This record gives sequence, structure tokens and C-alpha cells, in this order.
Amino acid sequence: MKYCYHCSRINPGDPLFCNTCGRSFDRKLCPRLHPNPRSAEICARCGSRELSTPQPKVPVSWRILEWLARMFVGVALAFLALVLAYEVVSELLGSPVVQSGLVLIVLMFLVLAWIWGKLPQWFRKFIHKQLTKRRNRHAEE
Ligand SMILES: [Zn+2]
Ligand SMILES: [Zn+2]
Repeated sequence: MKYCYHCSRINPGDPLFCNTCGRSFDRKLCPRLHPNPRSAEICARCGSRELSTPQPKVPVSWRILEWLARMFVGVALAFLALVLAYEVVSELLGSPVVQSGLVLIVLMFLVLAWIWGKLPQWFRKFIHKQLTKRRNRHAEE
């Protein structure tokens, strides 16, 4: 989300220009979309003089407010996720399914899958090779 300080509109997503007034946000962009600082007169990469008009400078207090709002939303979301996770876990612990160990196995599987996703590519290939080798040996016997 980007807020245009020129026309006071909120633009969804992360656009390069304001959807309403067509101004760029905190930089000047040439027709080839090379980013240049506000002070630039000519594009530093292609030499184009047709730089976009940036929105008016954002006051520092607004930037801090925006940052705080983002922080707040982030913390609130993290908190919500934690509360939800806690609810789910406490619900699970109270149910008889856990006693059968099924959920634990599923959880372990999920953790293993997560760890597997974090492993470097060469390690995964190595393990895969070992496994297939063993399988081939079994097939030969
Ligand atoms: Zn605008
Ligand atoms: Zn350029």
C-alpha cells in the first residue's frame, strides 16, 4: 500500500506511480523506469531528461506515524497468530486424539518437512541418493 501525498489517495499494492495523479512516490523515474533521486535532472543510467514528477516531500512526522502504524499492524498480526496457535494447541491437548499419538506423528512430520525445506540443495540430493541406493540394493536381493 502506498499513500499519495499529492492527491491524498491510497494505492493498493506496491505501484511505481500513483493511480490517480500519475506521480511517482519518493523518486523520479525515467520512461524506462530507472529510479533516480529527487534531486536528479537527468536519468543516471540512460540519460533521459523525461523524469517523472514525484509526489511532494513527506514530512518526517508522517513517516514516523506510517512506520508506527506498520509496526502496530505487524505486532497485532503476530499476537493474533500466537493466540490462534495457543488455542489450537490447547484444544488439541484436551482431545483424546492426542493420546493416540496421531497428532504428534503429524506434527513431527510437519516439523521434519519444514526442516527438509530448510536444508541446502546438495544435502537433499545426498540423502536422496543414499535412499535410492539402498532401495536399489533391496531390489537386487
Ligand atoms: Zn496521487
Ligand atoms: Zn533511465
